[in-house]
Amino acid sequence: MSPTWALALHGGAGAIAERAYKAEEEHMAALLDQGAAMLARGVSALDVVTEMACELEASGLHVAGKGAAPNAAGVVELDASVMDGATRAAGAVAALQGFISPVRVARGVMEKTSHVLLAGPGACAFARDQGFDRVDDPKTYYVAAESGLPGAGTIGAVALDANGKLAAATSTGGLHGKMPGRVGDTPIIGAGCWADERAAVSCTGIGEYFMRVNAAADVSARIAYAGQSLEQASAAVIDDVRRLGGYGGLIAVDVKGNVTAPFASQGMKRGLASSAGLREVKTF
Ligand code: ASP
Repeated sequence: MSPTWALALHGGAGAIAERAYKAEEEHMAALLDQGAAMLARGVSALDVVTEMACELEASGLHVAGKGAAPNAAGVVELDASVMDGATRAAGAVAALQGFISPVRVARGVMEKTSHVLLAGPGACAFARDQGFDRVDDPKTYYVAAESGLPGAGTIGAVALDANGKLAAATSTGGLHGKMPGRVGDTPIIGAGCWADERAAVSCTGIGEYFMRVNAAADVSARIAYAGQSLEQASAAVIDDVRRLGGYGGLIAVDVKGNVTAPFASQGMKRGLASSAGLREVKTF
């Protein structure tokens, strides 16, 4: 029997109906096929989500990595996180300045320190010491991808690998014109990113709401405590965000290989694939 695997990617929940997302969808389709092939040949969920998130950051098509926009002071500050479901190891960076791949630095925090989250100058010092690739000139490197609604151009990846292990990664430039030092849900383990032995989740949307409903971890909690399916749990969490007045979406996979991507917004750039034959790239 061929192994069960599942993969979901997102490029943010800020897509608007007035705009076409052809370049984003083409890039996501190619990436989805690449990630699916990696999972089919036994690459770990953790390596696949890191690689997928890194490519989405580098694409400049979403508000993360190269596509990030400056804050109100004209400075690009980036947030990212990664979590390994099997061990619950996690790493994150907040308000990171000047590095090409915040998600790789987050993975470094997870693997090279005894901490989960490094912020601001401390995160930069760590990234520098570890030799992560730097942005030479922020003025020419960042392209400020226009995603649609303000913010909501975060990227994320979640995966179940052939060994039954789950992982999640999320990365963002945050909200356009945000206050200097503002940190959203993306690097907050449990809010914008979560993986355990039940599910892996990555969120996008107005981070303040996702933090207040502890969105990503609540998907798994609902499965564990309320006996909900992945689809029910994920939809209920997005309903909570909507009830508070927020918008956004999430991607989630569970240990059985189910995949879901609910959103309360006009659209969410997403790609879903599984060993059961699912292959879907959509924005609306
Ligand atoms: N969740 C992100 C934040 O609030 C924004 C996004 O999803 O684009 O920083």
